Amino acid sequence: MTQAQAATPFLKDIHKLAERAGWISAGWRGAYHDSLVKLAAVACEIRGPYRLSGPFESDSKLRVAYSGTDKVVRGILDRLKRTAECTCEICGRRGKRRDTGSSPMVLCARCAAPRLLREAIEVLMRDLAQAEINGSSCVIAYEDLPIQMRLVMQSSIWPRDALTGDDPAKPIVRVEDVRRATSMLKEVRLILDRAIDAQHSN
Ligand SMILES: [Zn+2]
Repeated sequence: MTQAQAATPFLKDIHKLAERAGWISAGWRGAYHDSLVKLAAVACEIRGPYRLSGPFESDSKLRVAYSGTDKVVRGILDRLKRTAECTCEICGRRGKRRDTGSSPMVLCARCAAPRLLREAIEVLMRDLAQAEINGSSCVIAYEDLPIQMRLVMQSSIWPRDALTGDDPAKPIVRVEDVRRATSMLKEVRLILDRAIDAQHSN
């Protein structure tokens, strides 16, 4: 690298972007680093005056802004953006955009599982609280529960005689059954919180 190259705003910005790798989700840092290497490889006098800024991460999307119109640089940055869209932001495995409750995240199946179950428990607890406010004894249909939740329910509070009702295809759980299982659900939620924290620290 010559002194002239080292001094260009474009190269200085690449160094700044490298220093800011810690700003972005851990699972995306590999792709981000690869993009910076490619940008450094194509840095030249013509591209020197143009600026790079970021990284910007919002709504589970990753972006680096560029002030120029150069197709090669734009191509590298577009590829980074597209790679992040299908890369688990926690671990870097292949992932997809998923609704985990609070905000969408790009996650692989392994990282998504505890979050989806946690969200299903949250929804069930909210429904239970609402039923208690309304004084309702309304029932929850098995088919309305996310599949992860069915597994939790089956092992604990799913009524043994649920399948002997008038409509065997639509077994139900009563509100009081869910209420009896509240402490178990809170324990499961705690275990899931620990599992999610462990994913972030790995
Ligand atoms: Zn993952």
